[in-house]
Amino acid sequence: METLMHVIGGRPVTPQASQWDNVVNPASGEILGRVPLDDAQALSLAVETASAAFGPWADTPVLQRARVMFKFHELMDRHRNDIARSVTTEHGKTLPDATLEVARAMEVVELAASAPSLLKGEVLAGVSRGVDTMLIRTPLGVVAGITPFNFPAMVPLWMIPPALVSGNTFILKPSERTPLTSLLMMDLWAEAGLPPGVLNLVLGGRSAVDQILTHPDIKAVSFVGSQPVAEYIYRTAAAQGKRVQALGGAKNYHIIMPDAHIPKTVDALMGSAFGSAGERCLAGSVAIAVGSAADTLVPALREAIRQWQVGPGLDASSDMGPVIRPESRERIAGYIQKGVEEGAVLLEDGRQNPVEQPGFFLRPTLFDGVSSSMTIAREEIFGPVLSLMRAPDLTGAVKLANASQFGNTATIYTESGASARYFRDHIEAGMVGVNIGVPAPVAIFPFTGWKHSFYGDLHATGMDALRFYTEEKVVISRWWGDNQPE
Ligand code: NAD
Repeated sequence: METLMHVIGGRPVTPQASQWDNVVNPASGEILGRVPLDDAQALSLAVETASAAFGPWADTPVLQRARVMFKFHELMDRHRNDIARSVTTEHGKTLPDATLEVARAMEVVELAASAPSLLKGEVLAGVSRGVDTMLIRTPLGVVAGITPFNFPAMVPLWMIPPALVSGNTFILKPSERTPLTSLLMMDLWAEAGLPPGVLNLVLGGRSAVDQILTHPDIKAVSFVGSQPVAEYIYRTAAAQGKRVQALGGAKNYHIIMPDAHIPKTVDALMGSAFGSAGERCLAGSVAIAVGSAADTLVPALREAIRQWQVGPGLDASSDMGPVIRPESRERIAGYIQKGVEEGAVLLEDGRQNPVEQPGFFLRPTLFDGVSSSMTIAREEIFGPVLSLMRAPDLTGAVKLANASQFGNTATIYTESGASARYFRDHIEAGMVGVNIGVPAPVAIFPFTGWKHSFYGDLHATGMDALRFYTEEKVVISRWWGDNQPE
């Protein structure tokens, strides 16, 4: 079995660890490699290497740093099929889903390529006699990123391009469950001309994370993952004086009005709730049918679920692949059981008719009669389970959605501008969809989770990302001279 290597200073580094895990293809159970969990030496070496690389990289003209982004973008484009296949192989999502992920990742590289325009500072000449004031942005130093399993290409690239183009050096600790795509992209970064040591990849689990959080030479930490870990990361790293952005879990509510276009709403809901096996932080997991909407929505959803093909992500006929691990399947099945015990009506049971494949498959599940006190309405399930609630009117539906501890995204399906406006103004979520199943902003906008879906001040992507990875410096200058006004 292949032992996966760290990449530090542009070279593969053999891990020295006492704990290991396997990277597994969830569609087949095949072991793809062995990953170290606790190589403390590697993290220390990566910080030393990134620290040494920082000065020269920060001094590299920003236009030159942006050119590396252009080149990397070109290489991603050339290798987009390989990257997508890698995502499907280690994560399980369908190839079209993985291909879309790569395209969304490339948008962040495009954002970074425009850094010379975006990083321009501000100048006010003549704030006093002979005095000018200028605001410039400078890099922070060594920064680190810790990523989840579910977007192996996109989430690391939410962080790396904006951090590097701003002049920082970077240490990536990818998910121990899906590190292969990040390793593949390290080769492309090198080919794009990134100097050794500017970007380093350290494999690991919790102990690597704890080392990052407490290392005095790491100035900022970007995290994406589950809510309890996001909160832990934020508290621990902030207490160490680090800048932190920590994106956590979610429970995304979708409100269906009686005037919604039902066939298109069902398409959007199916993709949102069951695409990528529900393992998305933007997955719609609770649908609230307003008034008579349920009469047409429920039968149409049940029919769509029955047509939904579950199978390996590389199989062109699959609409949905496996979940990431057998333990995830058990956890999700546990939530389904809990829903039944708490009184929800199980309309479609994803545990039935197991897929005849060795992988970790579940079919879509649909509950009706869900109330806000039930566990399946409150907790993130992170699997292909959709819970249906009912509300008499839009105000009541928004109240139900706003009771959630999370605030990543919410969507309304309606043909009424007035309903959409009411929803936009009153829903407590950072990313709001109107007839959009997965309201993921393009990378020129920030990824604005609210409530327990985000800890920090500056979000990922958009101008927020460039602000997060830079320090502001205000320079006030006066030049003495005979011809200056007194
Ligand atoms: P996770 O929290 O288990 O792991 C994320 C990272 O944290 C991994 O690199 C892992 O090694 C590390 N980690 C795990 N447990 C830790 C611990 N106790 N202490 C320190 N580090 C730890 O998340 P996951 O299962 O890989 O990813 C799924 C989660 O990520 C879901 O909750 C999903 O909603 C969330 N997510 C959120 C967003 C967003 O934008 N808000 C995007 C993608 C995923």
